[in-house]
Amino acid sequence: MYDTIVIGAGPAGMTAALYAARSNLKVATLEQGAPGGQMNNTADVENYPGFELISGPELSMKMFEPLEKFGVENLYGIVTGIEDKGDYKIVRTDDEAYEAKTVIIATGAKHRQIGVVGENEYNSRGVSYCAVCDGAFFRNQDLLVVGGGDSAIEEGLFLTRFANSVTIVHRRDELRAQKILQDRAFANDKVSFIWDSVVEEIKGNDMKVTNVDIKNVKTNEITNHEFGGVFVYVGLDPVSDFFRDLGITDQDGWVVTDDHMRTNIPGIFAVGDIRQKHLRQITTAVGDGAIAGQEAYQYIVDHEV
Ligand code: FAD
Ligand code: NAP
Repeated sequence: MYDTIVIGAGPAGMTAALYAARSNLKVATLEQGAPGGQMNNTADVENYPGFELISGPELSMKMFEPLEKFGVENLYGIVTGIEDKGDYKIVRTDDEAYEAKTVIIATGAKHRQIGVVGENEYNSRGVSYCAVCDGAFFRNQDLLVVGGGDSAIEEGLFLTRFANSVTIVHRRDELRAQKILQDRAFANDKVSFIWDSVVEEIKGNDMKVTNVDIKNVKTNEITNHEFGGVFVYVGLDPVSDFFRDLGITDQDGWVVTDDHMRTNIPGIFAVGDIRQKHLRQITTAVGDGAIAGQEAYQYIVDHEV
């Protein structure tokens, strides 16, 4: 029986595990991939205090390294279900069932698709959701980035390191991204914008993407453009399908907590991007994690007989 199982080892989960372990709890993380979560798909992080500039993967390793020192068991597993048994919980993967007094859910969010013809067909053949992973394959090409938030602008700027040009298509005439990112994009000679427009269809040959149909949502006019790649950054969906039955999410699947990170089930906490919240950042994820690690300890103390 673990004191605490943390599901997901992004910045929120790793911090929760660190704080719980430093309270001398028996802690395990269950992670389906490399530790770091979405940070692994981020080239440059420049809003994490203490670092002027650090790559996402490097920051991930810096957060991961102390976990072993404090005795956290880092287990591999794709969690498929959580059961509330009152005093304890069961966390299931395909081939294991783990018992814990408390569970901290830190499963984060995943990229959303635009849902147009060609998106799935050309996935990994010109359509990508990760500039850090795939950008270098698109040297000297003309690229399209879809979206108007922080991710689209930041990753679009990153792509200018490789691409001949980066065109950002946004459904409105105003960006959602932080002002500092907007200013950088407007000042970059390689970046141009197509406003009030959405992707209608992604086209290509047997090998890869070659063209994209783009529709102006004000005039409904469709124009065809040559692009060697399409990077999609249209927001995030919660990773909560496997525990929707617990009844701790809102209608969109984000977990509702109080400011102690408690869900409506005693002993189950949630942290980071998976929470219903306003600002999804590394800083806010680690803040949530710290609180939940401490709250798990408090919960166990309060329930000890
Ligand atoms: P995540 O980082 O999403 O981690 C969740 C973890 O849970 C993942 O490792 C996943 O594999 C694991 N998991 C999910 N389901 C399961 C399961 N069933 N079983 C086991 N494991 C599971 N924020 C900043 O502050 N600065 C930036 O510069 C910045 N740049 C960004 C750039 C991009 C392109 C994106 C997409 C985001 C960026 N963000 C940035 C946001 C930041 O990365 C997130 O807010 C942060 O990573 C959220 O942390 P998290 O731990 O809550 O979730
Ligand atoms: P986001 O902020 O939700 O922005 C999504 C963008 O895509 C919006 O501009 C939205 O348009 C557009 N969009 C949504 N659905 C669309 C569709 N079907 N077709 C076309 N466009 C669509 O998502 P994000 O940019 O991925 O950011 C996610 C979170 O990570 C945010 O909290 C963000 O702050 C954080 N993040 C932070 C940094 C950083 O701090 N440097 C970097 C990256 C991400 P509208 O504007 O019209 O809604």
